[in-house]
Amino acid sequence: MLLSDLQTGDEGVVVRVSGHGHFRKRIIEMGFIKGVKVQSILNAPLNDPIKYRIMNFEVSLRRADASKVEIVTLQEAKEWERQKTVGSGEGKGLWGDQPPLPADDKRSAVDRLVENKTHTINVALVGNPNCGKTSIFNIAANAHERVGNYSGVTVDEKVGTFQYGGYTFNLIDLPGTYSLSAYSPEELYVRKHIIETPPDIILNVVDGTNLERNLYLTTQLIDMDLTIVMALNMSDELKKSGDKLDIEQLSTLLGIPIVPTTGRNGQGIGTLFDTIIDVFEGRERHVRHIHVNHGKLLEQRIGRMRTELYNHGFSDELSTRFLSIKLLENDSQMIEYVERKDDDGSINRLREEISDEYQKHTGEDIESAVTDAKYGFIRGALAEVYEANEQRRNHVLTDKLDAVVTHRWLGYPIFLVFMFLTFFCTFALGNYPMEWIDMLFSWIGDLVGRHMAEGPLRSLLVDGVISGVGSVIVFLPNILILYLFISFMEDSGYMARAAFIMDKLMHKMGLHGKSFIPMIMGFGCNVPAIMATRTIEDRKSRLLTMLVIPMMSCSARIPTYMIIIGAFFSRHAALILTGLYAVGMVMAVLMAKLFSRRVVKGEALPFVMELPPYRLPTMRSVLRHTWEKGKEYLKKMGTIILGAAVIVWALGYFPHHDDYASAGEQLEQSYLGRIGKGVEPVMRPCGFDWRQSVSLLAGTAAKEVVASTMGVLYASEEGDASTLEDDDAIRISQLVRGHMTPLSAASMLIFVLLYMPCISTIIAIKNESGKWRWALLTVLYTTVLAWVASTGFYQIAMLLTP
Ligand code: GDP
Ligand code: MG
Repeated sequence: MLLSDLQTGDEGVVVRVSGHGHFRKRIIEMGFIKGVKVQSILNAPLNDPIKYRIMNFEVSLRRADASKVEIVTLQEAKEWERQKTVGSGEGKGLWGDQPPLPADDKRSAVDRLVENKTHTINVALVGNPNCGKTSIFNIAANAHERVGNYSGVTVDEKVGTFQYGGYTFNLIDLPGTYSLSAYSPEELYVRKHIIETPPDIILNVVDGTNLERNLYLTTQLIDMDLTIVMALNMSDELKKSGDKLDIEQLSTLLGIPIVPTTGRNGQGIGTLFDTIIDVFEGRERHVRHIHVNHGKLLEQRIGRMRTELYNHGFSDELSTRFLSIKLLENDSQMIEYVERKDDDGSINRLREEISDEYQKHTGEDIESAVTDAKYGFIRGALAEVYEANEQRRNHVLTDKLDAVVTHRWLGYPIFLVFMFLTFFCTFALGNYPMEWIDMLFSWIGDLVGRHMAEGPLRSLLVDGVISGVGSVIVFLPNILILYLFISFMEDSGYMARAAFIMDKLMHKMGLHGKSFIPMIMGFGCNVPAIMATRTIEDRKSRLLTMLVIPMMSCSARIPTYMIIIGAFFSRHAALILTGLYAVGMVMAVLMAKLFSRRVVKGEALPFVMELPPYRLPTMRSVLRHTWEKGKEYLKKMGTIILGAAVIVWALGYFPHHDDYASAGEQLEQSYLGRIGKGVEPVMRPCGFDWRQSVSLLAGTAAKEVVASTMGVLYASEEGDASTLEDDDAIRISQLVRGHMTPLSAASMLIFVLLYMPCISTIIAIKNESGKWRWALLTVLYTTVLAWVASTGFYQIAMLLTP
């Protein structure tokens, strides 16, 4: 009987806890374990929660929870004993009857019934049509169900009972289905059965010669958070085909024990049921609940839906993850299912809102996106564990492309070409529009300068706002081009392939192939890159990735690079930029290796790297992604960078004295000068003067502020220089040249590359890792690293140059 039916004062013994994984785990953690005695203390008809005594504790259990716990009472046990002596209710199986109980069995009737019930395993066969479910059912249950070679033979469920390995199995042969959607009566039937009468174990029968299609259903079973054992059937055919499958690795990736079987002759079926027993008893080491990753766009929306469903109490009934995905897929039956608890219609509203917004955002409907994502997951898993026989290889476009792009050694040069192209275009093409914006800003500066009277307001506008913001905004085109490339690589599906081929390399440094995409995104901006680490299921790899992302030179550092390179190294610009990015990546690798050994503890768990289908990104979606980034950049201009520029200007302008001999002296005596002079001693070993020190300090607000501060600082000195060109960035570069040595400039490039990330990145690390500890560690290690690297470089270079 169910625990919820136990009357006040009565006792029972727990024999089974049903429900989906997470829910079940919670009840078990409360102490409701097989064989444990419970007493109902207070169970009035309308009482919720119900009070129980268990293991000498009093616990309250909600009625919904209690109805998932099966118990045995004395009365039941007596009834069961009486019936047993009347006739044997047990079925006969292939492996014969259970040995009869010894005559001197002194145990109580309850103990015996508990023993019997806890040794009963309910197994449901789930799989595609024609994968061999009925064949396995027949061999196991020794039944003579008709085995047919066409779909739809099994219309209704068939139940067989048999004994094996000291356990009673109730085996249910469900109709074959390709999916768990609401499209066919079979699909609905299977789904309903799993939800309403959840078996202890789902036996997922899979046709080993047709894995890609068969595993689709498996991904949905995984969504449902069920306990699954997989029979890899048709293993005779698989062997004959010459294809190679690494079953152990697939098992690890899916978190599902897999047993090869041949339904035709019964091979492997004994091992299959041994494995089922091990899983039932919780001693199978492959069992692990994984998430089929649907990509960041979908996962974020699934997450929102889940929270809503959780708040409506659906987590008691079935996996909210599965329910969310189905709702977003517009599954009419599931929509109906949630309606009864959706009094205010908020679930339905959220569903429609997400659906519309997704359609608008991506131009495709969620249903096909989910299907694509699932096939991407399967393709990624199979790429790691499956190798088709030469002659049997599929020759569709995706396969052909993948054969080249993920080729063992061709993949790397292809990737390098892509990266080279990205950076070449970012810097070379970006220069043209950059000059236009530059001209515009110096024209505005001139205009304002000419038409305003000398004084603080003019200085604020010209030296503060226009110089500060102008020295950063000119790099907008570079940044847009960089994002254009990153968006294109992501949307086309190429980025996933790049991550795939990098997997082995990344493992060597303690990271995961999936760390690769966030790291590349870090070239754009570290903040979304850190959020993108959410796709890394393994906590250790995820944390490591977050910690090293600041080493990836974000686009906000570009303005500073360009100003300094323009001032000193314009002839070797390409070489130096490449070098900077490379140094960042090498540092990321070294730090990851160090952290994985010393700081971030734990074993990395393997997981599937999705290979979503290739698609030609629409111009519209790539442009929109790019524009979204551009908009953010402009917004940052108008807020944080403008603000910082004004503050830096004010600190440099006050206290103001007209009697200083030069603008340089004014600046030196200002608050800014004093702060800079205060920090200077610490920075001197790196080769920095007070101006550089101030710029770097200001850059902790946002990395662009390093450049805008330089703009304000050096522009204020304009009075010193007599012949200046109109061009803003070039002008700043010229001014910089008068105040730095080439060595000090190079040292500054290294410092800007490595030192602490901006405030937004620090906060992102805190939020995503959940702890300030990791954010602070990042600030500390990056700054120390920058200081040591710059000092080392500067001091050695000073020694070497005469
Ligand atoms: P169901 O639709 O999943 O119930 O599949 P059936 O059990 O009806 O099997 C479909 C067909 O596949 C039948 O012709 C079986 O004889 C055949 N079959 C089942 N298992 C195997 C196997 O492991 N190897 C081979 N070669 N054929 C099998
Ligand atoms: Mg069948």
